[in-house]
Amino acid sequence: MIPINKDIALLVLDLDQTVRGNMVSNRRPPNDVGEQFIYPGIAEHLADYARHGTVVRFATNQGGIGAGFFTKEACERVLAETIQLLNEQSSGADHFHPDDIEYCPSTDKRHPDRKPNPGMLLKWMELEGLSTYDHHCVYVGDRHSDRLAAEAAGFEFKWAWDFHPGVPVRPEATR
Ligand SMILES: [Mg+2]
Repeated sequence: MIPINKDIALLVLDLDQTVRGNMVSNRRPPNDVGEQFIYPGIAEHLADYARHGTVVRFATNQGGIGAGFFTKEACERVLAETIQLLNEQSSGADHFHPDDIEYCPSTDKRHPDRKPNPGMLLKWMELEGLSTYDHHCVYVGDRHSDRLAAEAAGFEFKWAWDFHPGVPVRPEATR
């Protein structure tokens, strides 16, 4: 079992290359069901946080919708599959729900929800009645845009591979 940080009240994670990978191509996020896999052990790691009482949520750019690579409906099917896989790969009650994911369909860099903008993280704080002033809030991601969004929202940032050892390191992201 991977130790958890019991101080964390709100734990938000990016999805692509942070929680899930693509079996078909490592150059793009999954855009159809059956393409994705969950990084080994991360579902149970997140379930440990949920059992402890940490609020576990997700925030993902899905600009593929805005770019026309796939529809909103297809995106939501793939996100529902992510949740299903997380529940299948963790023990006990179903800890994860499709509503636990905020996604931004826009490709517009000015959109307040599109990372590196912090809109989705601010939304999670508001929805859960938490604030970075009173609560330890953490965002986990694999890209600089994730780090910038975390900083703008006042969250602590963690690289995905530092958070969970089953996530492949992307050295180019840390430069
Ligand atoms: Mg990512």
